[in-house]
Amino acid sequence: MQVLTSYLGDRWQAGDAAGAATLVNPTTEAPVATASTRGLDLGAALAHARTVGGPALRALTFAERGALLAAMSKAIHAERDALIEIGRINAGNTRGDAKFDVDGATGTLMYYAGLARELGERRTLLDGEALTLGRPGTRLQGQHVLLPREGVALHINAFNFPAWGLAEKAACALLAGMPVLAKPATATAWMTWHMVKVVVDAGILPPGALALLTGSVGDLLDHVQPADAIAFTGGAETGFAIRSHPRVLRAGVPVNIEADSLNATVLAPDAEDATVDAFLRHLHKEMTQKAGQKCTGTRRILVPHDLLGEVKEDLSRRLADTLVGDPADDAVHMGPLATAGQQKGAREGLAQLQTQADVVFQGEGPLVGVEPGRGYFQRPVLLQARDPHAPGPVHDVEVFGPVATLLPYDGTVEEAAALVRLGQGSLVGSLYGDDRAFLRDAILALGAHHGRLVVTDAKVADQALHPGLVMPHLTHGGPGRAGGGTELGGPRGLALYQQRVGVQGNGPLIAKLLDA
Ligand code: NAP
Repeated sequence: MQVLTSYLGDRWQAGDAAGAATLVNPTTEAPVATASTRGLDLGAALAHARTVGGPALRALTFAERGALLAAMSKAIHAERDALIEIGRINAGNTRGDAKFDVDGATGTLMYYAGLARELGERRTLLDGEALTLGRPGTRLQGQHVLLPREGVALHINAFNFPAWGLAEKAACALLAGMPVLAKPATATAWMTWHMVKVVVDAGILPPGALALLTGSVGDLLDHVQPADAIAFTGGAETGFAIRSHPRVLRAGVPVNIEADSLNATVLAPDAEDATVDAFLRHLHKEMTQKAGQKCTGTRRILVPHDLLGEVKEDLSRRLADTLVGDPADDAVHMGPLATAGQQKGAREGLAQLQTQADVVFQGEGPLVGVEPGRGYFQRPVLLQARDPHAPGPVHDVEVFGPVATLLPYDGTVEEAAALVRLGQGSLVGSLYGDDRAFLRDAILALGAHHGRLVVTDAKVADQALHPGLVMPHLTHGGPGRAGGGTELGGPRGLALYQQRVGVQGNGPLIAKLLDA
């Protein structure tokens, strides 16, 4: 069985075996790896990153840090097949699911490497133009400057994207000039561990720039200091516990939270055939990719009354054609959920949804290549809300699996917006339609409730990207129950790791001093 160690203080360290968690193959339930953090000195690990990794990264220019990201991307890409296999064994990923995660990771690192080339041979970034502070013609000016925070970026990630989760956060922090301590979710940590091992073995990063904590978080948060920053992805309750941790509050450490979300998709009335086709294609993908375990997955489906029958029938057919089973079989579209706990949570959530919604489609039949009774499988389920306007589980309970609920509506922006807003803030919303007035009014009505809106009309329908695909160019995060955080978005993704300082004085002198 694979023992997953932690990489702290530039050394691989194993925690006490007596406190080890066991990672399993969710298809067979066989144990595959162990991880323990018990007895590890996390205070010393953070101190090492602050004193060794931080200065080394801050000495580099953006272009030099970008070259490190490009090298990381290449080294990880070279291990793509091994990582895909780990995704199958430890997370129940089909080949397509694991590729989505791993290629998302390497693509994001490469995107930030490109951005770094544009930022060039500088160590600081100016935020806006110089501002005159007084009478016209005075030399007195102010300039906002962005400098790397001098602590550690603590990255606590969810189980569903062990590759991309590491890379999207590390790319931004390292490029900003902050060392990283990454803590993947224990249940699927093997893939993250392998990626860090590849990067360490290749000797890409300066000493102290990257640390890995594999297993329980232990007393990590008791050691945070004011210059640190925390980026968390996971459940809302855990996010709340981190945000309200006494040491985090006292030290004033900024916390970015990416939590759960009941993302909605809206089909506008009178959409062209190509638009409706993209809507259905994307919906099926969002429900079944990674067995629905995506924070950006679609949970609520708004369809005008007159299109409801067509949508139900088409989507049910697509779901019925979705082969569920052992992800090792290339014919299988959807594997199991990642853990027994996730399966239990999905079943409980589904029962809650059924207090407000009827089942329209329920996957059935034998699982491909799976021993009967084994594995943490959840077949696709499509529901329809009895009263779409009633607050409650349909707008509140995120079933982290291949489950979504139809909400019929009258085809007006007003009603669509009222329903979507019941979700209280989402990572991503999507609009499918060809009526320009509808699309404009819907963007204005829904924009403030989302981190990202994906608009698909007939002209882009064949090339449109499904809404769950997070692009590094645009922000990822959302208001309200989605956590209120923001990550990525090109240079915006560096903000958590930078201190903005207003430098005030002799304007021309300051401009010269900050030139590089
Ligand atoms: P989770 O149970 O909240 O765990 C997330 C991470 O927090 C794990 O690394 C976990 O470690 C750690 N953790 C647990 N208790 C902690 C504590 N008291 N202090 C500090 N860290 C702690 O979430 P999950 O089950 O892995 O992920 C599923 C949820 O994440 C879903 O609700 C999904 O919507 C959300 N999610 C959101 C996004 C987004 O970008 N918004 C992306 C993916 C997933 P252990 O694993 O060791 O317990």
